[in-house]
Amino acid sequence: MSFVYKADPVRGAVWAELFARQMPELPFRIWPDIGDPRDVRYLAAWQPPDDIAARFPNLEILFSTGAGTDHVDLSAIPAALPVVRMVESGIIAGMVEYVSLAALSIHRDWRTYLEQQRNGNWQPHRVHPAASRRVGVLGLGMLGRAVLERLSGFGFSCAGWSRSPQHIEGVACHAGPEQLQAFLKRTDILICLLPLTDSTRGILCRPLFDQLPRGATLINVGRGGHLVQEDLLQALEEGQLGSAILDVCEPEPLPPGHPFWTHPRVTLTPHIASMTQPETAVEAVIGNIRRHRQGLPMIGLVDRVTGY
Ligand code: NDP
Repeated sequence: MSFVYKADPVRGAVWAELFARQMPELPFRIWPDIGDPRDVRYLAAWQPPDDIAARFPNLEILFSTGAGTDHVDLSAIPAALPVVRMVESGIIAGMVEYVSLAALSIHRDWRTYLEQQRNGNWQPHRVHPAASRRVGVLGLGMLGRAVLERLSGFGFSCAGWSRSPQHIEGVACHAGPEQLQAFLKRTDILICLLPLTDSTRGILCRPLFDQLPRGATLINVGRGGHLVQEDLLQALEEGQLGSAILDVCEPEPLPPGHPFWTHPRVTLTPHIASMTQPETAVEAVIGNIRRHRQGLPMIGLVDRVTGY
């Protein structure tokens, strides 16, 4: 029986040390050194191999090393093989930091002051209370909820949108396509934390932008595939959107010469909002292996119908 890790080998070496301490009875291997494929019971991968079923006939669990699973072609994974995404505190902490930074930078006009400094311009502007700024989060899952909890703490007026109705203390929760318009109408800073699925691809498009208050900001930390890039450029051009902060793009890396690189109202980061942290990730994976062995439900099990 063995565990195979198929992602960044440098982080894999840290996983190996942690496994050796916390689950020494389970041999841990780093791709491509997989040993006898018939021994492999658990695979943690960013990109699983195409021939997963044939290659690992005794595989019991496929772990995604990321919080999303859009990079995995679920149709190529045997229906009976559980796919488990990464639900771990390190990813949550990173995302809360990034989105807080992004939302506060919009709220406190950071871009304006950086530009003023470059121009030698000492010009204060009125500071508005956070309560006057309406933040809205698309996606009320592990990350959306944690982000809203922190942003509520700053005093922002918070709302969220999900597929099924949710209740979060102090957050105006909206659900389903029929409540999307009401959610957008009251959102000055829109944060996308949706999974990328057939029903969310391209959701950040012109008709959606047009329902936001004029001059709203987009923070996309979901996936590049959520965004229709030409629609964003047009909405910025026409002033319907004031600015955008993008951590994710399609494709990644963004090709040289793409307008986002130099757009004065686009801030771009290279998909670093949050990263899986080996210490907490290994704890989560081992916890799930133990749960699986005891016949208990695993945390982060992907629903093969909804795709997240
Ligand atoms: P979860 O699966 O925990 O939550 C997903 C949320 O999105 C749920 O609230 C769900 O609704 C909602 N949702 C899904 N489909 C729809 C839909 N069609 N309409 C409305 N709401 C929908 O995901 P996480 O919070 O863990 O992660 C979200 C995404 O963040 C990941 O999939 C990944 O793409 C991205 N991410 C980005 C990172 C980065 O560094 N930029 C790092 C980590 C993740 P419901 O509650 O009803 O199920």
